Amino acid sequence: MNKMKKVFVSQMVVLALVLYFSVLSFAGQTKNIILMIGDGMGPSHVQIAWLYATRQLGKNLVMTEVMDNGRTAYMVNDTADSTVTESAAAAVQMATGVKVLARAIGIGPDGKVLKTILEMAKEKGKATGLVTTSGITDATPAAFVAHVGHRSKEDVIAEQLIKSNVNILFGGRKDFFIPETEKGKRKDERNLLMEAGQNGYIIVETAEEMKKAQAEKILGLFNKENMLFEIDRKESLEPSLAEMTAKAIEVLQRNKEGFFLMVEAGRIDHAAHHHNISAVISDTLAFDEAIKVAYDFQKNCPDTLLIVTADHETGGLAVIGHSQTSQEYVGINLEAISKIKGSHEKRNKELGKDPTPEKIKEVIKKYYEVDLKDDEVKGIKENILSKLDSRHFRYDRDGIIAFMLRLYHRIGWATDSHTATPLFLWGIGPGSEKIKGWRHNTEVFFIMKEAYGF
Ligand SMILES: [Zn+2]
Repeated sequence: MNKMKKVFVSQMVVLALVLYFSVLSFAGQTKNIILMIGDGMGPSHVQIAWLYATRQLGKNLVMTEVMDNGRTAYMVNDTADSTVTESAAAAVQMATGVKVLARAIGIGPDGKVLKTILEMAKEKGKATGLVTTSGITDATPAAFVAHVGHRSKEDVIAEQLIKSNVNILFGGRKDFFIPETEKGKRKDERNLLMEAGQNGYIIVETAEEMKKAQAEKILGLFNKENMLFEIDRKESLEPSLAEMTAKAIEVLQRNKEGFFLMVEAGRIDHAAHHHNISAVISDTLAFDEAIKVAYDFQKNCPDTLLIVTADHETGGLAVIGHSQTSQEYVGINLEAISKIKGSHEKRNKELGKDPTPEKIKEVIKKYYEVDLKDDEVKGIKENILSKLDSRHFRYDRDGIIAFMLRLYHRIGWATDSHTATPLFLWGIGPGSEKIKGWRHNTEVFFIMKEAYGF
């Protein structure tokens, strides 16, 4: 070999090595992934929370900061059996990359068990965590680690959770861990809190206990049922979603191999099912505070991929242009919405089972500062819409009250269920390059898998 040839060959070898190692370092450069899911959070929910934050509270959303500094895609979510999804199929599709049937948890349409991104991360020695304001046994967190034919088998999901070795499990629905004889919902007499303790979990039930807990495995069950809506939470002992997210990151980041964390704002969906605009806004803002915690961590640890998205839209929510009297477009009445005193759950307790017209007038005045007209009170009392459309207004009283208030608040709802409205998908950090254009929710799995280099 002459001298020129030798130089050329050695240059080519160096070039090949550089290319090889740069591909390797790209594939494996993501140490941590934080996947944040607003359940039921469609683009309108985000936009109304943004209008409320900027015009009523005088601040911007962290969500829009993530959009400005990161990447954005539109995301669709059709399943193997429907163009409109529910939370189980949506979360399984993001967790496994496979299009599945409605309501199955971690099981493919062929009946086979699917491996999730959390399980892959755990196999590689990473720490793992699941956080939600809904039940920890509910569909979204369950989809990342449980495998059952139907999401309603929450007693079985609870059994799988306590055996999972997932480091952080924070949420509600403690009832599925406690036997009926101790006022829980388990028919098999097992006390899973005791069993979780035997499996090495520290159990915490309040924000204070959570903050103090020093352990590698923490099971936080903060309510017998779902955790409270943010609008009702302030005087309770429950942690906020941001506090749960901060604690999860504090524990998980100790693992040298990195971590996978899924954080769900689980109750935006519930608020939207019940046409409860104040809870939609306050739970979306609480989600935004949790995103701030995760984004601050991502800025300090840039080998973290932060993904923020939703599972589906709930309610067919829209801003209405006109009030009862306006000739011009005026849009959403943020000031009226800011006066709402509590969630529909609290309001309904005060209304009681079959309220008199006077009681309806009084409770609506108390919760909304709205003086309903007599025909509107009568409309609520008789639930006139259920006579026209009994299926749509199955949450009868919530539906009719929201309908009567729609021109006061100037927002409308198309359905009390889910829609196929395309969702936002945002990402920042290594591996977020593919978050652009028109994505399907199954691709979230492949984006995460490639980012980790698995
Ligand atoms: Zn829902």
